[in-house]
Amino acid sequence: MSQILIIYTGGTIGMMADPISKTLVPINFEQIMDNVPELEKLNCKIKVHSFEQIIDSSNMNPAIWSELAGLIEANYDEVDGYVILHGSDTMAYTASALSFMLQNLDKPVIFTGSQLPISAVRTDAKENLMTAIEIAKAKKNDKSRVPEVCIYFDYKLFRGNRAFKYNSSKFEAFRSPNYPILAESGVHLRFSANDIRQPGEGPLKVHNKLVSDVAVLKLYPGISPKVVETILGADVRGIVMETFGAGNTTTDQWFIDLLKKAIDAGKVILDISQCKVGTVELGRYETSKELKDMGVASGFDMTFEAAVTKMMYLLGEIDDPQEVRRCLEMDLRGELTEA
Ligand code: ASP
Repeated sequence: MSQILIIYTGGTIGMMADPISKTLVPINFEQIMDNVPELEKLNCKIKVHSFEQIIDSSNMNPAIWSELAGLIEANYDEVDGYVILHGSDTMAYTASALSFMLQNLDKPVIFTGSQLPISAVRTDAKENLMTAIEIAKAKKNDKSRVPEVCIYFDYKLFRGNRAFKYNSSKFEAFRSPNYPILAESGVHLRFSANDIRQPGEGPLKVHNKLVSDVAVLKLYPGISPKVVETILGADVRGIVMETFGAGNTTTDQWFIDLLKKAIDAGKVILDISQCKVGTVELGRYETSKELKDMGVASGFDMTFEAAVTKMMYLLGEIDDPQEVRRCLEMDLRGELTEA
């Protein structure tokens, strides 16, 4: 019989309206179980690890990502798959981070949560939880069907580092416009085998030296030299720059000079687009040619969540900025499509 480890970190799925404050506050895992008697009927053994402090995912941080990676590693030989209950607000960040931290993963790590608490009459939590478990235990020829870090939400399975939270009020909370969904649940649970990544060679390797010295420079027409200088001059090693369209920026000389100065100081600058669909193509327009020449890295079609966590992961692994830049442009865990 398959064994699944459910890790409960928090999120709306495990919240209840406090009668006095009227805000949503966390409940413990036993209270979640009481709401889903169907769990008993699943043909698998369920092991549960509940975090000591149940959090709203807005309080998520890299220390908890390390704890999650550690739990996955500690239970690796024993279980067939993992389901991680997590708030949807930062779920795509945690899923992206873990995709980089868990090299050669060959078991499913399925994140899920819900938009309504599990105790609510119209809750989306039950379907999300039950199907996430089904996916975590699904095998073909004795191999996991989805050996990846994924997000399951509202009948769809996404690659974790391709998804982002797109809607705060619909059950359809996530989208992944630059990569197809990996499975869809309806009357049948259909996997898109061709889009699912196969694990790398070798045993699981956990990387948990994330460096969160990362700044974000989001461009807008009218951004001032003072603002750009402050962000590029921050005491960080990596900067994710959110640019226009296919990776374009202003060509004003002051801006180009500030970027060059940051790169000369050993900072790594990663260019991702503010567009949610499509890819960065450095050098396609005159307004990005100079970025390429000076050594700005292309983030291609990465999500913001994948870009930030990939930067944190690579800065933790590699000292040389040129090498960080080279790896940023490589497809490490299915997070980008090279042009
Ligand atoms: N604020 C909640 C969280 O991210 C929202 C959710 O769970 O959907 O923890």
